[in-house]
Amino acid sequence: MEFSSRIIEQAVNEFSRFPGIGKKTSLRLVLHLVKQNEQDIRGLSASILALKEKLKFCKECGNVADEDICLICKDTRRDRSLLCLVEDMRDVMALENTSQYRGIYHILGGLISPMDGIGPEELNIESIEKRIKEHDVKEVIIALSATMEGDTTAFYLSRRFKSLGVKVSSLSRGIAIGGELEYADEITLGRSIAARVPFE
Ligand SMILES: [Zn+2]
Repeated sequence: MEFSSRIIEQAVNEFSRFPGIGKKTSLRLVLHLVKQNEQDIRGLSASILALKEKLKFCKECGNVADEDICLICKDTRRDRSLLCLVEDMRDVMALENTSQYRGIYHILGGLISPMDGIGPEELNIESIEKRIKEHDVKEVIIALSATMEGDTTAFYLSRRFKSLGVKVSSLSRGIAIGGELEYADEITLGRSIAARVPFE
């Protein structure tokens, strides 16, 4: 692609770094921005900058937050005896969209993967156990992907949590969970958390 402006070329290169955005789409976005007024562009820049400068990660669950504690953990109407363990924030968003879950979450931020040198120590499991004890959690729902890493992690964690005396369950199978949790339709995902099964 040839450009008459280095500024345009650089912007196109930046946008094409987004997942799923090729050079053509990137150019379309850039040309759209060129037509916007300065105020809109400043608003956009500010919201992008805020992602790095202002966004925080919840000290309780690890989810994205505007303050030290996220809105879900702060919500007093949520059932603190129910804790759902997921791999990342997209999974929380997908489960929230189902409106079928009123417990709290914990974001693991990764999976046990001996091939990649990721052991249980890297996942900060003590903080989850501390939470289970402090909030008097009665049931942990393990909602991790049905991959080898997801299964290994779920098996390891279920044994640790069961030794704390809590009930451990998992989403009813038949849907793609974990990494693909966000892609399951809301109704199916909602059903699979409502009809969760004991973790075997
Ligand atoms: Zn939180």
